[in-house]
Amino acid sequence: MASNVRTRFAPSPTGYLHIGGARTALFSWAFARRHGGTFILRIEDTDVARSTPEAVQAILDGMEWLGLDADEGPFYQMQRMDRYKEVIQQMLAAGTAYHCYTSSEELDRIREEQRARGEKPRYDGRWRPEQGKTLPTPPESVKPVVRFRNPADGAVAWDDLVKGRIEIANTELDDLVIARADGTPTYNFCVVVDDLDMGITHVIRGDDHVNNTPRQINILQALGAQVPLYAHLSMILGDDGTKLSKRHGAVSVMQYDDEGYLPEAVVNYLGRLGWSHGDDEIFSRQQFVEWFDLDHITPSAAQFNTEKLNWLNAHYIKQADNARLAAEVARRLARRGVDPEAGPALEAVIALYKDRVANLNELADSAELYCVELHPAPELVAQHLTDVSRPALAGLKARLEGVTWEKTSLNQAIKDTMAEHGLKMPQVAIPLRIATLGVAQTPAIDAVLELLGRERVLARMARYV
Ligand code: GLU
Repeated sequence: MASNVRTRFAPSPTGYLHIGGARTALFSWAFARRHGGTFILRIEDTDVARSTPEAVQAILDGMEWLGLDADEGPFYQMQRMDRYKEVIQQMLAAGTAYHCYTSSEELDRIREEQRARGEKPRYDGRWRPEQGKTLPTPPESVKPVVRFRNPADGAVAWDDLVKGRIEIANTELDDLVIARADGTPTYNFCVVVDDLDMGITHVIRGDDHVNNTPRQINILQALGAQVPLYAHLSMILGDDGTKLSKRHGAVSVMQYDDEGYLPEAVVNYLGRLGWSHGDDEIFSRQQFVEWFDLDHITPSAAQFNTEKLNWLNAHYIKQADNARLAAEVARRLARRGVDPEAGPALEAVIALYKDRVANLNELADSAELYCVELHPAPELVAQHLTDVSRPALAGLKARLEGVTWEKTSLNQAIKDTMAEHGLKMPQVAIPLRIATLGVAQTPAIDAVLELLGRERVLARMARYV
């Protein structure tokens, strides 16, 4: 089902790919996929002072991790300079743009005077060509900028697919500088030329760009272009209702990977962040693509909810294939300097723990207990490995030396030990957990022993009895 829907994600590579950008990318991607259209990645790197190759890489990594594959691009604006300059020349020739020789000092003075008169500061149009108007003689000392000849009256309006109709009087808009004195095109102009050349039909982006839209539409119209539809997404607030920032914890997409989230949990979570499909909370990527539309995006700010993300992550960990989780856990253990091969088969450890954890790091924490020499907290040892429990553990150890190594027999050995020493289950099980895994709480002890294996269990117990 090919269609003419063409969307783009157009990040500026000035930092990491943050969670708001990731949601914008996801919505643009999903909309294109939903309609069998084309999704384009465009790197807006014209701010050379702030753009870095590392930030470009962070964007590419983040997109890959989330599975947001682009059909075209990445295009780099810095590689399209000739094209922007060409369009500027066309506009100068067509009279939709003009040279302006007002120096920045002069501009400051004009603004100062306007303020003093209580007027809104703006360019006064002195170099704007009008019929019957004689323009000043260009001063030789000033290199001109190029300004867009914004329509003088009327209004520019669009039906925003999220925010509804937005209309701005043209008298509110200055004649925008589209090329600086050194000839470099300005931000809004590059966006316009790109959206035009790339045949973008739907601009889905953050609402921090709403103010740019009327300017961009006017330029597009001056170029005789078909104006795309716009959907401006409201911002994302932190858990506490303030603007999302580093204070709220992970904000970069790859940090979610570091913190043990599965990409499908993050995608599902972001999908629901400001968009809804009835009461559905859990949906696969495929389901999301089938359902996604622009009609159910809320115009109000979406609030981040870490608890819900954690809940989704736990869900997806339970669902995930053990071999895949094992690879994830092995990667995390290796990063900690722990040899994942030192314990029992990782997949078996994961099978025992995957229902009990909120993230992959917790899963790695548990797996680590099976792989390393343990040093339980001395207080824990003192409290539980007492004169009462130690003899029982010694008796149990002797039994375990000869028992068949599977849960039923292991369980029977524990029960026999309890009976022999007149102890209750926790009086044996807790010291046994501490002796074998270094912690007081674990899954069912028979399952733990079975998994750990006879050799490791006996060696670990021998440290205490
Ligand atoms: N480069 C802009 C940003 O990173 C996005 C521009 C756009 O989507 O039109 O915020």
